[in-house]
Amino acid sequence: MSARILIVDDVPTSVRLMAAKLSNEYYETLTVSDGYQALKAVAEHHPDLVLLDVMMPGLDGFNVCRRIKENPKTTHIPVVMVTALGGREDRVHGLNVGADDFLTKPVDDTTLFARIRSLVRLKRTLEQWRLREETSERFGFNADVDLLVDSGTKAHVILADDSTIQKSNICEALAAENDEVTVIDDYDAPGRIVDLAGDVVVISMSSDSDAPLRLASRLRSLEPTRQIPILLIGDAEDSDRFIKALELGVNDYLVRPIDEQELLARVRTQVRRKRYQDRLQATFLQHLSMALTDSLTGLHNRRYLSSHLDSVMRRMGDSEKPVSLLMIDVDHFKRVNDTYGHGAGDEVLREVGQRVLRNIRGFDLAVRFGGEEFVVVMPDTPIAVALTVAERLCEMMADEPVRISDSQDKVAVTLSIGVAESRDRGDVGERLLKRADEALYQAKKSGRNRVVPTPPKMTEFGAESLPG
Ligand code: GH3
Ligand code: MG
Ligand code: MG
Repeated sequence: MSARILIVDDVPTSVRLMAAKLSNEYYETLTVSDGYQALKAVAEHHPDLVLLDVMMPGLDGFNVCRRIKENPKTTHIPVVMVTALGGREDRVHGLNVGADDFLTKPVDDTTLFARIRSLVRLKRTLEQWRLREETSERFGFNADVDLLVDSGTKAHVILADDSTIQKSNICEALAAENDEVTVIDDYDAPGRIVDLAGDVVVISMSSDSDAPLRLASRLRSLEPTRQIPILLIGDAEDSDRFIKALELGVNDYLVRPIDEQELLARVRTQVRRKRYQDRLQATFLQHLSMALTDSLTGLHNRRYLSSHLDSVMRRMGDSEKPVSLLMIDVDHFKRVNDTYGHGAGDEVLREVGQRVLRNIRGFDLAVRFGGEEFVVVMPDTPIAVALTVAERLCEMMADEPVRISDSQDKVAVTLSIGVAESRDRGDVGERLLKRADEALYQAKKSGRNRVVPTPPKMTEFGAESLPG
């Protein structure tokens, strides 16, 4: 996996050394020597990762990192801070301004490359979600939440650890942030972790066994936990296992003795990242559902119907039960608009939609098909039943005029409904709609305010296959 890496350091030899190392591993490198150039390069070249020196004249590494992370356009770019100092305050400070990791010079190559691979992989995942978000925006949907703002609610941390002593230390540290901690003392219980649906899993390695890494790997392969951040805790001797863990998809690790502040900062980083991804995902799903819903009535729209109807009919083929469909049109609706105004017309349409919904079953599908036309798809329903439902709807509409809010007006509304049924395995949605539409046309022609079924022959063979 190649990636473009931006190296930021004010010492020319450091830059050259790092660039040579990375080029050897086939990474594409960009280099700059101060903070302002770094921000410019990030904006212009969209690197896949930034290796950022802390101590620089002018804008230092902390400030550069903060600005990258505060910008919605660049927040998903991983930043690894590199420092000559091994001080824990710097580390914690760096993580708190949003750095994804902190490495100390001289940087160990194996660790560096494992980190880079892991962070670049993560960035690519986030990018997929961001792409969808951008597409939604092009279609006119705007996220109604600020995607960058963390809700700040306490996190649910799941700690997997089978040693008693360490466990309580870690718990205490985590509790300092008011996070909720659930302890699992069995590495062979990924199912329990799935059930807990936490924000982050901390796996503490307490023995030489492979069980902790196996747990990490199983969590990665199970759908509900595929995206959950995993943080590993181990000893300095575990360095090979840390590298292996990163390859397995573990997000971060921490070496004992545990620094409380650093543990908290690393957990925080993971939770922040997960929530960002969750928000991207949630807005996308929300936009998707908006794209398939009619905004006036809240019913499904025609686009949804066209994708849904064929799958309902395919399923009919398997169950051998008929599907019925109502095509509903409001009578003389133009007059409603002309007499009471367009706003009143909208209210009538909303009310018709509500009455349709009230009269059908949960698994029937109500759709606003167009202007004043509605469609109801009724799976597993013979036409005789569909006709009864349609008759009831017609009567309900005719019997009770629609009250217009903020006025004395009561608008008499009637419906014409065409009903069609499909029993034929080879039938498709398009044809079923057409038959119902033809029946609707007959209902209009024969006087409106009525229900008309497709003639039996048409029902059976489909309109097109009728002779002549
Ligand atoms: P018919 O009984 O033959 O169906 O007559 P009609 O007047 O209902 O049919 P027509 O197709 O001539 O007119 C439909 C009207 O519905 C025209 C259009 O302005 C109105 N319409 C379509 N969409 C909306 C909407 O979202 N809100 C409102 N208020 N009116 C709408
Ligand atoms: Mg009409
Ligand atoms: Mg019409």
